[in-house]
Amino acid sequence: MIIAIDGPAGAGKSTVAKRVSVALGMTFLDTGAMYRAVTLAVLERGVHPSDAKSCAAVACELNLGFDREGRILIDGRPGEPGIRSSTVTLNVSAVSAHPGVREAVVERQREIGKRSPGIVAEGRDTTTVVFPDADHKFFLNASADERARRRALQEGTLERLDEVRDDIERRDRLDTTRAHSPLKRAPDAIVVEADGLAVQEVVESILERIRGGAPR
Ligand code: C5P
Repeated sequence: MIIAIDGPAGAGKSTVAKRVSVALGMTFLDTGAMYRAVTLAVLERGVHPSDAKSCAAVACELNLGFDREGRILIDGRPGEPGIRSSTVTLNVSAVSAHPGVREAVVERQREIGKRSPGIVAEGRDTTTVVFPDADHKFFLNASADERARRRALQEGTLERLDEVRDDIERRDRLDTTRAHSPLKRAPDAIVVEADGLAVQEVVESILERIRGGAPR
């Protein structure tokens, strides 16, 4: 079974998708971590994030996998916490916009999906491009203010709330307007508005839909 959850930066997708995967005993696939891993390798190799060809070559060369806890491995080595650095966050939208990068990463995601009996994938294009035939599709949404507050709380950077909101809005702009696989809601995805809801409430509402077998 494939469950796909998309949505903008900071809507709580990772936490929600991870909890849903644990509740259902399924594999968690953090697709954003894969684009972050490519970006980290691009920067480490001195490749410019706007160099489409070289970025795609890096994406093709890398061996991306996950450990048992669902944490990314880059050529067998842990990608955390490097993939969460502010330099990676600043450059990941540019790197992930290159079609060659996306093709390499999506191919790997589909392989993981095929190999696993049950998967909860979260990202920007898992409901539209990677797994268009997913059994259940969700679009997790929240206002930019709410998303910035959550992200800042999570990172302990509440004193820089304006900066965090600017970064989220900048990534929204880049992720929704790029030519290749922009962030958009699949017409058959169930929209979950997370504003004002606790994470566990969002998880419960998603689990209810899945267990109830609500059609997508
Ligand atoms: O989810 P996370 O914030 O870690 O994603 C980092 C970036 O990776 C996003 O801002 C987006 O540019 C890119 N991404 C993507 N497609 C996905 C997941 C993430 O383009 N499926």
